[in-house]
Amino acid sequence: MLEISKRLTSYNPNERLRRELERARAELSELEARHRELKKTAKDLELQDKAVEDRIRRLQKDLYGGKVVNPREVEAMEHEIESLKKQRGEMDLQLLELWERLPEAEQALEEPRKRVQELESKFAEAQEKLRAENAVLQEEYDKLAAARPRFLEGLPQNLLARYEAVRQRQGGIGMAEATSQGLCGACGTTLPTAAIEHAKLGQVATCQECHRIIYATDGAI
Ligand SMILES: [Zn+2]
Repeated sequence: MLEISKRLTSYNPNERLRRELERARAELSELEARHRELKKTAKDLELQDKAVEDRIRRLQKDLYGGKVVNPREVEAMEHEIESLKKQRGEMDLQLLELWERLPEAEQALEEPRKRVQELESKFAEAQEKLRAENAVLQEEYDKLAAARPRFLEGLPQNLLARYEAVRQRQGGIGMAEATSQGLCGACGTTLPTAAIEHAKLGQVATCQECHRIIYATDGAI
């Protein structure tokens, strides 16, 4: 019985879903990082663009304000303004491209975001279901413990595997008690007398209909 408990607690049917959710989260955070990076690049570029614009304006003010009269100095300033304007033109092109890519990058987040949300609620639901199933199982164990079926002690591996398979097929319940009328406590099928006798002796017996492992207390016929 302890062996079964260990097996059941280590077995998590939601593991695949959890991994899927993790992958979706990783994918989303990668896209989000790329989007943030793009936004930051655009912001930096805007600031640079503004600084160059200010520099051009100051140079032009000095130049046309009559402050500078030396022809060589005038020429140098005109030169600088030209090169700054060229620089600005390039930055503006880059900015335009970034502004075009930003909405795309933002839109690319929508689908993965939805997917993460879907998987999150799916996972939460599955976990809730598992908790409920485990509660049923626990109840079953308590009952078994009270009935003390001898076959649970030193249960062979192949039976453990069978129990697990039946449990999964039958909504978390792999065992059923023989009723006092000699029916399978889970599906209501009439059990052969021999099966009940076996169960009473602590030997392995299964319901021929639902294949659950049958256990019997002395109350069963
Ligand atoms: Zn049955």
